[in-house]
Formats: sequence, structure tokens, C-alpha cells
Amino acid sequence: MESILKQYFGFSKFRPYQKEIVEKILDGKDSLVVMATGSGKSLCYQVPPLIAKKTTVVISPLISLMQDQVMALKQRGIRAEYLSSAQTDRSAHSNAESGQYNILYMTPEKACVLTTSFWSRLLISGICLLAVDEAHCISEWGHDFRVEYKQLGRLRDVLPNVPFVGLTATATEKVRIDIINSLKMKNPHITIGSFDRQNLFYGVKYSDRSSAFVDELVKEISKYRNSRSSTIVYCTTVKDAEQIFKFLLEDGIEAGIYHGQMSNKAREESHRAFIRDEFYVMVATIAFGMGIDKPNIRHVIHYGCPKSLESYYQESGRCGRDGIPSTCWLYYARSDFGKADFYCSEARTADQRKAIMESFVAAQRYCMLTTCRRKYLLEYFGEKYGFVNCGTCDNCTSSKNESDMSREAFLLMACIKACGGHWGLNLPVDVLRGSRSKKIIDAQFDKLPFHGLGKEMPANWWKALADQLISRDYLIETFRDVYKTVRVGPKGVDFLNSCTPDHQPPLYLPSPTEMVGDMKGTDIVGEAGVDGLAPIKFEGLCQEEAQFYKMLVE
Ligand code: ADP
Ligand code: MG
Ligand code: ZN
Repeated sequence: MESILKQYFGFSKFRPYQKEIVEKILDGKDSLVVMATGSGKSLCYQVPPLIAKKTTVVISPLISLMQDQVMALKQRGIRAEYLSSAQTDRSAHSNAESGQYNILYMTPEKACVLTTSFWSRLLISGICLLAVDEAHCISEWGHDFRVEYKQLGRLRDVLPNVPFVGLTATATEKVRIDIINSLKMKNPHITIGSFDRQNLFYGVKYSDRSSAFVDELVKEISKYRNSRSSTIVYCTTVKDAEQIFKFLLEDGIEAGIYHGQMSNKAREESHRAFIRDEFYVMVATIAFGMGIDKPNIRHVIHYGCPKSLESYYQESGRCGRDGIPSTCWLYYARSDFGKADFYCSEARTADQRKAIMESFVAAQRYCMLTTCRRKYLLEYFGEKYGFVNCGTCDNCTSSKNESDMSREAFLLMACIKACGGHWGLNLPVDVLRGSRSKKIIDAQFDKLPFHGLGKEMPANWWKALADQLISRDYLIETFRDVYKTVRVGPKGVDFLNSCTPDHQPPLYLPSPTEMVGDMKGTDIVGEAGVDGLAPIKFEGLCQEEAQFYKMLVE
């Protein structure tokens, strides 16, 4: 096996799990391979046909990806070809049937329309494996569900004794079970590799989406220019992608764009140009997806909170496939968190809706995290991570100073509670900041003891503090239609119960100033109707106010 590895691929040793997987396949066992992006899953199905001297059929979702792989394999002296519905070359077909290829790629659509006689002939010629790459596409719980993948189970009936292997980098249990069932696997050998991508640095920055911010981002990206490396900027909407793309071009940065509203042809061209290093920044939506096997991607930037941690892990994982240190930065704005309804619109059942919500909330928490991001990611995927500090994420490298925010947290939570707990964040924050808007006067919230107590701090500062309290379960955010409401959760109530107006137990949180940076100019003073009165000092509550406060907390 090692000599085949050396002879065809030029590698001197197998990576973890590869050899064992190949052996199981050669033993005729069905297998499920769940391993991180870049861990070398392809090799697991490329080696067996070279040893068995039979054909491996690989189901792969994208033609461009198959073309690349076929080209690379041919260069290594491996007989490879692909079949797609678009391909009309009859000789490829008959060569395939007669077992001329070591590795035969096809799209799931093609696999389903090939006749039984094709498969029977191939069986006689010799087929040692059917590999389903990106197997999570089979599952509706996955983030890339493809209807055609669902049909693949039918191949089991025509190839009853051929081992099947499903390969994916998506780890959730539901998806795993779906793959095993859909491919009708019999007692499969399951390999779950570590999800830790040790060469990737993870970091998150707050973005206010102002034009000044976009300027910063463009500057940041232009820094990557001199190194012979590529960057992908993932945007959550086509509009964002077009905007960033335009700014990059205006700054003289060689960039390309890729999104779902472009024609197939334009997309393919863009992908190819990126692979050939004709430009070094690809601005894309998540339509720029599977099979981006480009070794020298050094940076993946997410502009906007992704819809799930599963997709974040996959997208960010596209950098550093060659093992060289690479960075994954995510820029989020609070407004990103309001997109839940948009994502939920894809759901067809209540269960799916719940699953989508849960993964979105996990992504939001990732954004607001102040502890190790690697640990959080790995544990989300069910892997135990033994370290508290990974040394290669923003939270582990820059010590975000936590300070006692008990008083501020107390004010915010008590105010949210006093306002009834059925508003978004804006209203309680406006109350704290002393707004006399009509809504506030009408509801008599200007009479609350907290009114105006928080006016030294900008609204975004209070919202960043709220984010921290939400991520720690003191506050609970819920969706009502498209609006989010925030209320004090049980943990927050416990905290409030242990507070008095003059004294609050310590509550260490990262300073919102560190989270949101210098917010000068981003807070629109006046909009909230803040009057010019000096803020009331909390310590100076009169007795009635203190009484009133007590009532609220109780
Ligand atoms: P995956 O499909 O798991 O995301 P790939 O199969 O595309 O990953 O492999 C990622 C990279 O790792 C490729 O560039 C591949 O050539 C390289 N690779 C795979 N196996 C080995 C090995 N045993 N030794 C060195 N490099 C390897
Ligand atoms: Mg792969
Ligand atoms: Zn860390």
C-alpha cells in the first residue's frame, strides 16, 4: 500500500485513518468517513482501485470539481474519467463499462439515469467500490441538501455486494444516521476523525457595517496581496458581495466574484480563474461551495454572521488545506442576528425550523464568545477538547480583559424587566439613555428609576453588553415573527434577586468597549430624543425609587 501511495501520489506515509479505511474497503466493508476538510478523504477512495485493479465509482456533486480531480489523477498516471448528463462522448461510456478506468466520477443525476445493463457490465468488468463524496448532501439535516443524492440508495439494488463509502466533513449525528440509512449501508465501519484544524487561526471582529468599516475591511484584504496566496470573502447576501467586490476593484485589488445569481458559465469561469490564481481575492456567497480544493487559500473572511456553525466550519475550513497556518476571521454586526426568519423560510417542518434556529443561535454564540473559539467549535461537533487555551484563536491570544460589569448588567437587566420583557433591545436601551420619545412617554417609562442612568454610554455599547448577557443565558432572546424580544431569564432573575440598588455581586464580563471598539460616530445621538439633563446617579436613589425598584425585581 505504501508503495502505491508513493508511486502514484508521491506521499511517503498515510495520514491518520487513511490506511485503516482503505483496508476496510478492500475487505468489502461499507464505511462512513467523517473527517475534517483537508484531512485527505479523497485518497481513501482513490487508493483501493489501484490495489484491487478494479474500478471505483465516485459520486461527486459538481462537474467543475470532477474535472479538476480527473485532470490531477491523469497527471499522476491514473486512468480517470467523469460522466455527467451533459457529456455526450460515447466512448467514455463504453470505456467505463468495460472497466477501463481506475476511477470513474459521476454526478448523482447521472448515476441514477444509467441503465441496469451499464451497471451489470461494470460489475462483470470489476468494480471494487462506490464512493459518495460530500455525502451530507443526502441529508435534509445537512446544510447542502440535494434531492438527487436522495435517490442514490437505489444503486444498492444494482450493486448489492459492492462496498459503499460515504465521505463528509459534516459531523452531526442526525446527518450521519441519514447517510447510513439512505445508502442502505450494512453494519458500516465508521471513522470519525478529529475536527481540529490545528493550522487555522480563528477570530471574530465586530462590524458596524458603516462605510468606514468597509474601508477598513478592504484595507485589511489588500494587505494579503503580496503573498502568493488566496483569500475568500464570504458574504451573506449577493448585495454585500457585489458591494465588497466593487470596492476591492476600485482599490485596484485583483478580485473575482461568485454567487447564485450569476449564470453557470460565469460562475465556472470565475472558479477557474481563481484556481489559476488570476486574481487573489474571491468575493462570494455560500454558493461558492463544495470542492474548492485549492491548497494556497490563506484567509477566509466571513462578512456577516453565517447561518450555522456547520456551514461556518466548512467554509472557513477551505483555507490552509496544505497544512500551512491560515486565518479565519468573521465580522459580524448585530443586525445579522435578525436573519433567523429568512433562514427558517427554508424549513418545511417544525422540527427543521427548530434545527435551523438552533444552528443559527450556535453561530451567534460563536460570534459573541469570549472564551476559546476552537474549544467551542469542536465541542459543538461533539468532540472533547482538553485544553482551555488553544493559543491560536483571538480570545486565547489577546487576553480580552474582563472587568466587573455588575452595576451595568444590573441596570440593563432591571430596565429590561421593568419595561415588561416583551420589547427588543432598542426600547430598554433608549430608556437607559434617557430618551423621551413618544413611545417612552406614553408608556411612562421615563418615570422608571433607570431612565437616563446609562446615558454616558452609546446605544451600541449597551447592546454589546446585552450580547454578552445573552451568550451567558442571563438574558433570553426569542423571536416573534421577524422581531426579536429580549427578557430576563432565570439566571438573570437570580442575579437581580441578589442585587440591591447600592450593591451588586460581581459579574465579570469583557468590556463592551473591547467588543465593539471605539464607537465614536456610530451612535446617532438625538435620534432617541435624549435630553440634556445630567444623568441621575444610581447610588442616589430616593426611597420611593428604591421601593419602586424592589417592586420590579420582586
Ligand atoms: P478532503 O476531501 O478530506 O477535504 P482532500 O482529499 O482534498 O481532503 O486532501 C487535502 C489535501 O491533503 C490534498 O492536497 C491532498 O493531496 C493532501 N493529502 C492527502 N493525503 C495525504 C498524505 N497521506 N500525505 C500528504 N498529503 C496528503
Ligand atoms: Mg473532499
Ligand atoms: Zn482558543
